[in-house]
Amino acid sequence: MPITAKANLATDSHGGRAKCLQRLVRLDLPVPHSVALSFDAVHAIANGVMPDIAGIVGQFTSGALLCVRPSSADPDWGGPGAVLNVGMNDAQHVRLSNTLGHDAATALYSRFVQAYGIHVARLDPDIFDDFSGTDEDTLRDILAAYEAEADERFPQDIETQLTGVLRSMARAWDGTSARLLRAARGAPPDAGLGLVVQQMISGFGQGECGSGVFQLVNTSTGAAQITGRYLSQSQGREALGAGAGALYLERDERGRSLEDAAPGAFAALKAHAALMRQKLREEMQIEFVIADGKVHILDGVRVPRSAHAAVRIAVRLASDDIITPQEAVMRVEPNMLTELLHRQVDPEAERDVLGTGIAASPGAATGRIVFSAIEAQASAARREPCVLVRRETSPEDVRGMHASVAVLTERGGMTSHAAVIGRGMGLPCIVGASSLRFDTRAGQIIAADGRVLKAGDIITIDGSSGEILAGSPSMLEPAQDDAFQRLMAWADAERDIGIRANADTPEDAQTARNFNAQGIGLCRTEHMFFDPARLIVMREMIFAETSSGRASVLERLLPMQRDDFTQLFRIMEGQPVCIRLFDPPLHEFLPTTRDGQLQLAEALDIPISAVTRRVDQMREHNPMLGLRGVRLGVTVPEIYDMQARAIFEATIEASRDGAPVVPEIMIPLVSAKREVELVKSRIDAVATAVRSERGQDFDYRLGVMVETPRAALRAQDIAAHAAFLSFGTNDLTQMTYGLSRDDAGRFMSAYVQQGVFPEDPFHVMDQDGVGELLKLGASRGRAAKPGITLSICGEHGGNPESIAFCREAGFDYVSCSPFRVPVARLAAAQLAINHKMGDQKSSLAQMLLKWRPRARRQA
Ligand code: PEP
Ligand code: MG
Repeated sequence: MPITAKANLATDSHGGRAKCLQRLVRLDLPVPHSVALSFDAVHAIANGVMPDIAGIVGQFTSGALLCVRPSSADPDWGGPGAVLNVGMNDAQHVRLSNTLGHDAATALYSRFVQAYGIHVARLDPDIFDDFSGTDEDTLRDILAAYEAEADERFPQDIETQLTGVLRSMARAWDGTSARLLRAARGAPPDAGLGLVVQQMISGFGQGECGSGVFQLVNTSTGAAQITGRYLSQSQGREALGAGAGALYLERDERGRSLEDAAPGAFAALKAHAALMRQKLREEMQIEFVIADGKVHILDGVRVPRSAHAAVRIAVRLASDDIITPQEAVMRVEPNMLTELLHRQVDPEAERDVLGTGIAASPGAATGRIVFSAIEAQASAARREPCVLVRRETSPEDVRGMHASVAVLTERGGMTSHAAVIGRGMGLPCIVGASSLRFDTRAGQIIAADGRVLKAGDIITIDGSSGEILAGSPSMLEPAQDDAFQRLMAWADAERDIGIRANADTPEDAQTARNFNAQGIGLCRTEHMFFDPARLIVMREMIFAETSSGRASVLERLLPMQRDDFTQLFRIMEGQPVCIRLFDPPLHEFLPTTRDGQLQLAEALDIPISAVTRRVDQMREHNPMLGLRGVRLGVTVPEIYDMQARAIFEATIEASRDGAPVVPEIMIPLVSAKREVELVKSRIDAVATAVRSERGQDFDYRLGVMVETPRAALRAQDIAAHAAFLSFGTNDLTQMTYGLSRDDAGRFMSAYVQQGVFPEDPFHVMDQDGVGELLKLGASRGRAAKPGITLSICGEHGGNPESIAFCREAGFDYVSCSPFRVPVARLAAAQLAINHKMGDQKSSLAQMLLKWRPRARRQA
């Protein structure tokens, strides 16, 4: 079908390129005559049913050369490369030698024979390797090579050539590698390919002739700036690879420009680009040809862009009233924002990959390898950036993590200690890097290719891709400029689900506030004891065997906790702060090193053998299913009493000179109603005591973490005693699958590769299983108590797909690590806008698919 203003063309039947060309035709832009083949027609071609080729050729000026370009619904899905100069043959060679010059005609013919040979006749590209000139002899050699290898004369007939080109492009789209590639980029399995056949305008000949690309913005920064290249006497995208031979577009001190060489053509291009921006409502890159000074527009594609540029472009289009703020919000993929929040390896940089692991905390950093927390601190003292390399991390390593620029562990998964802490701190982190061999005792890691890395060697951790790189590739800095802030403000105006942050320390809380979180959804109080000075007190408490011994340690802990909570309340300025009572998987707190055991022996004034004996006694076979969470609260209730008192006293303190605080207290790892009753009655009693001691009233909300399958199943009993239910999807995933959070990393990639799990369920929430428990728990909880607040606070909380799920299920808010908050805000806004636009299931599904980070889609 010819691409005319009135032709019945649509993106989902003929592809984006065909539709875009039609829009350009409607704008009266100088587009060469073009014909669009629909997805159905191309599908038929792949199956050997050809359209009326003579009819197609007949639509073009007799003797014109043609080009064929792919036109899929989404340009991101890739497709076969364009084939230029279809119709080139001996006769055209003679004709064009007279009009364009002999060299140009010979070059065109040589190039076409090679392209046809490789893509259509499927010849080995090597056979053309030795031919590089543009002279007649080279052309003869190329034709001879074709004929020898293909065992036929090079086809001279344009219809035969066009048939071959169309068939090869249609079949390439159906090939396995093309399918896999586009599936990884979010294309549905039945994605179609359209083709556009276009009359070629020669960029060779008399007067100013050439070709190039032109756009009005800078691809990396998004700033308004005319960019692109132009090359005289060229065609296709040759200008881009032409180096010093190419001209700048706008007048430029560095060299000759198109504006100097052909001011009229430059002005026309500028006007065309501005019109396209206004009418197509997008920053477009124009592929153009100048023939004897006159501009022709061959194609327009969306300007490729970095995350930084995507935000700036969307905001500027909205500020110029070309699109609405809502559209601007819809135009930035939420996961892209992580690039603005963390340093990234420059996409242009060379990557020397040593190995891979689970990308547990995004961003990239370069440093010298250290194998212990102490070395990390020493390195930080010398101001030498370091990467902490451990088998796995424990609270003893947290100080070392603070002193490092990145963390790499051999073991662990998305919710293991290093991953959770790394994400909270915004520290790039790779866990479960089983493709490397760790020999931390010998102070070395061995890469998959045998390279040995020792302490002091420089590596780069790319926590966004999960790649461990040798050396220090160049980096891009994070950027949260005005455009970012405006986009986020527009997003917040649309959002209809709350976004809180998981924050354990004043620094986390400050980050959460800076990113406009609407409160803290999870403060893991045991994380407040990672500081070595406090870790020892925590251990003393765990080790205390008598009630009086414990009481004295708790007395020391009380002021520490009160200060912690006061700080958090002050930073959050009256916003809700949900404090989870102690949930220490005890094994994480037991001293594993001789040093740690010695310190504890000194603190407790007992022999080290007594410490090791007690460590042995307390060791559990399954600590994650052992004495943790509310089980500790029920068996050693004084601990929760102390925490409740600290929370209430801090509430009074922080409300005195700031916004009134209504603390939220959350009970972890509940599986039975009675656990909640026991804890609730003691906390209520502490509240009454503090009120009467201080002579001051305050409110608080008590809630339950639903993170065991039984708590979800019995949510109706539990809700009766709770003001809110917060689903802890880390433990809920662990217990639903019976899959260890800390050990799953070892086989997760094999499981995902073999399709046992579609994704790592600790990374992307399993909506079928874990999600069903969430829905069930939510509906049972709501049935028992209609106004109960529902939320999710596991690591999935910041994942756009989980947010979609929670929004659909009517949750009140999601809580995620502070650095994830902007991503969550944007994703939630897009869901709300999508819903307002009609909530078509298919567009929601497509949006969710687009949101998936590429690396995972390829896994
Ligand atoms: C959870 O289990 O989902 C959760 C948030 O708690 P934690 O990760 O601290 O066990
Ligand atoms: Mg948990």
